Amino acid sequence: MKLDRIFIFFILLLLGILFYWVCYLGYNQESYRKQQTQTTDPSIVKNILMSEEKHKNLGLQSSPGFLYSQPSLLVGSRTDVVSVTPWLAPIVWEGTFDSSLIDSMYKKKNITIATTVFALGKYTRFLKEFLESAEQHYFVGYRVRYYLFTDRPEEVPEIKLGEEHYLTILKVPSMDRWQDISMGRMEILEKLTKSELASEADYIFCLDVDAKFYGPWGVETLGRLVAVIHPWFYGYPRDQFTYERRPESQAFIPAGEGDYYYTAAAFGGTFKEVHELTKYCREQQSIDASKATEAIWHDESHLNKYLLYNKPSKLLSPEYLWRDISMRTSQVKVIRLSHVAKNNEEVRQNA
Ligand code: UDP
Ligand code: MN
Repeated sequence: MKLDRIFIFFILLLLGILFYWVCYLGYNQESYRKQQTQTTDPSIVKNILMSEEKHKNLGLQSSPGFLYSQPSLLVGSRTDVVSVTPWLAPIVWEGTFDSSLIDSMYKKKNITIATTVFALGKYTRFLKEFLESAEQHYFVGYRVRYYLFTDRPEEVPEIKLGEEHYLTILKVPSMDRWQDISMGRMEILEKLTKSELASEADYIFCLDVDAKFYGPWGVETLGRLVAVIHPWFYGYPRDQFTYERRPESQAFIPAGEGDYYYTAAAFGGTFKEVHELTKYCREQQSIDASKATEAIWHDESHLNKYLLYNKPSKLLSPEYLWRDISMRTSQVKVIRLSHVAKNNEEVRQNA
């Protein structure tokens, strides 16, 4: 009898210990979970969400029921021009893309295109036509933020901007030599693409101001690193390109090398890529300057060297920066942006 009681006592004691142990473990797990949620930094959660958002931006989706012409694998829509590079980057020509299809896919995304333009000295006179024509043709229906760099803010004309198009005027110091103004853009763009403004836009284009839009420039131009083929040299053999040929300049490209000759009057891409490109050009320009050297075509020579070894992911045909609106060629079926005639002696401080 006495033994029975002792036995029951031990059983109860064991059950008690077991109960306590189970409760203790449960509590610990609960507090562990709580700890995890408490220590999760809200900014990390935000970053994860943002990177998912960016990731979503990469994929293009079309909608069921949206009809467009069947793409053909057998006949190209353009047989007179090449629309892909040897490294498989598209070269954009009228007739190689379906703008209603591309639009329908980009319209789902909430994208912003930053666009930089410089107007120093007498070049402010080009602003009115540039901006007014851009408002007719350039990324109509998408959010555009223009960043206008000028030393004469009082000469910036009043332009009525379309919906979701914004203009920011940034004052920069005047410079005497047009070559310094042209090259100086690289340093300013290098800083802009690294600034907090970079988070306000998805893509950036850097354009010359002495130009006017005549046809649509839209989302078909977007890409990681986008270069525009110079309108004067597209039919030339590479050894006739006006690359820098003097080895003493950082922009030197040896004979036998080269893909295309690109213009410095229009280029773009993501902020990261344009930052790398502009940083490179600024660095190479200052190495040249320290040796009292200047590349033959200034920033354009360095840009061409960069793009030779850092291949653009998309190329825009000369439709995207034509010679002159009065000039025609059978390959350019739509002139989207064209240089305006300018008297260099008259508009440049030093000509
Ligand atoms: N630029 C400027 N003021 C000048 C010279 C140049 O604002 O006095 C800027 C302007 O944006 C211009 C770009 O630098 O479009 C390139 O210069 P320019 O157009 O004269 O070079 P080109 O296209 O004739 O080689
Ligand atoms: Mn120009």
